Parts: sequence; structure tokens; C-alpha cells
Amino acid sequence: MIRKNLLFIKMLNIKTSSKILFDRFMTRFVPSKETCPVCGSRGECHVHAYYGRTITDFVNGRRHKCSISVMRVICDSCHHTHAILPDHIIPYGTYGLFFVLRVLSEHIFQFRSIESICERYEISISQFRKWKCLFRQHKKLWLGELENLKTDTRDFMKTLVSNPYNGFSSEFISHFAFSFLQSHKNPSVCCSESAGYCQKIFLPDYRIT
Ligand SMILES: [Zn+2]
Repeated sequence: MIRKNLLFIKMLNIKTSSKILFDRFMTRFVPSKETCPVCGSRGECHVHAYYGRTITDFVNGRRHKCSISVMRVICDSCHHTHAILPDHIIPYGTYGLFFVLRVLSEHIFQFRSIESICERYEISISQFRKWKCLFRQHKKLWLGELENLKTDTRDFMKTLVSNPYNGFSSEFISHFAFSFLQSHKNPSVCCSESAGYCQKIFLPDYRIT
């Protein structure tokens, strides 16, 4: 899997949907410019296939489901395939990063009760609790035990949404080999020719505006 840093700007400044961001990025994505994250060959990747993913987003004050078409490229040198995913798409999840952070923010900053949040975003209480637990686990992983105790959850969330996300997302993946708020494990190394287990971050060829 090749993750792409798209979120160079603060998440608070993003006024568009996950799908629009994704489609805008993919129309300008050039596979032949990629470096294979497995063998390091440059210029050997080309389009192999596409697969559909449904992403739940929150657009204009409403929950919104959209479909995206994820490109998989294949490296001619080592024959591994890699899905191309910008950093606002959580691997193996059906909810977009903006959606999950928005739900959690409403709770962390005490905008609404848990029941009211779940009703507004049409999610179950158990789903909400899973995200809250995952957020806490990843915060602790990222900060370390001692710093985690000293860092208020609100301050951590403020840092995430009010700074460019790309630096954090790259570093998180390089430390832990999975993405922030990714709940499903990466596929096993030995059972597939695809390199889904191998998450590497590369900068995109342009910045979103
Ligand atoms: Zn390769």
C-alpha cells in the first residue's frame, strides 16, 4: 500500500468532501512517477486494477455515503501490487478520517451528549465507543505512557486538526506500520502477492488548494 500525504493544510480549513479530495488527487496521479515501496524501483509501476470502496462522510451537515475507486498499481520489477490511498482515507475502514475525527471532537469538546452524537451521525453507541477507545490507544502509542498522561485529550485533538496533518500521518505510519485510527490489521505478509501489509508514505506531486 502506498499512502499519499495530501493534507498539507489544517483539517479545520478543509471545506470539501473526502470524495472530492480523493478524485481530485487521483486525476493528477501518475503511476509511472512512483517508487515501488517493496523493491525501490522507480518508474516501474503502472495501473493494475481498481476496486470500489464506500466511504461515509459528513457533508453540508449531513451524513453522506460515497463510492471511490481505489487504484492498484503493479511494479514490473518485483510484481507486487500496491493500493494508492491518500491520508484522509483510513485503510480497511468504511468511515472517512474527517467523519471519525468530527464525531470524536464533538464528544471531546463536549458539544453534545454521546446519545445525541450517535443520533446525529447515525452510528451505534458501540461504534462510537470503539473509535473512542482506538483514539485513546493511538494517542498513548504516539505520545508514550508518560507524555500521554500529561497530555489532555482536547489538546491532542486540537493539535491534530489545527496543524497540517501530513507530518503526523507519515510519522505515525513509519513508527507503527499502520495508520492513525486504522482498526483493522494489515493483511498477513505471507499469504498474498500484494504488498498491502507494507504501508509506505510518499509525497504527492502537488498540493491541494
Ligand atoms: Zn517493486
